[in-house]
Amino acid sequence: MKNTPSGIDTVHRISNGAAKCLIIACPDCPDSPSRFVRLPASRIIEWTVAGNLAPPDKSKEEGQSSATIRKAVLEDWVTHIIVCGHSNCRMIESLFEPELLKTMPYVSAWLRHAEFARDAALAEAGMTLETVRVTPKLIRKATETNIVAQLKNLQTHRFVASRVETGELQIHGWLYEPENARVLAFSPASAAFHQIEGLGIEGMIL
Ligand SMILES: [Zn+2]
Repeated sequence: MKNTPSGIDTVHRISNGAAKCLIIACPDCPDSPSRFVRLPASRIIEWTVAGNLAPPDKSKEEGQSSATIRKAVLEDWVTHIIVCGHSNCRMIESLFEPELLKTMPYVSAWLRHAEFARDAALAEAGMTLETVRVTPKLIRKATETNIVAQLKNLQTHRFVASRVETGELQIHGWLYEPENARVLAFSPASAAFHQIEGLGIEGMIL
């Protein structure tokens, strides 16, 4: 993955009024992430999709997502894409409930794009789907891994990768914690999420 800047850098770099932002958010997030981006509403596109997933190029569900992202990037000339996950995500938690997903085949099919994150969290915890004991730490690991995985998925789309390469487009991974009133940004340099410092929860970032 290209070493895109974190939200921390973005705060300082993008304030020239030319920024336009696509936010890929999750429907059970208790707040709209748009409120954390200091841009006029006309410069923000918020796309709400279960698990804040961005299916990779040529996947079965790629058509609709690709159309949304393609339109934003190519026609609306979005300069930033933010994949915004959140704590206590019900979508992520449901990945660990295969019996529940069996009753929702469409949701299950869609969430397979987050299975990598689930499996990584299980492996780190030394558990399997059969032996899983769902803990906040497990959900957190899956949530963070999922955000990073979607950043990689985005870059499988040639029209995204080429613009990231030229610097026309920056992509960011954010994790919103409503309970702590803070937003963390993924830093590729440290491969970790860091709190975006020095900004109040109202009217922040970009
Ligand atoms: Zn969610």
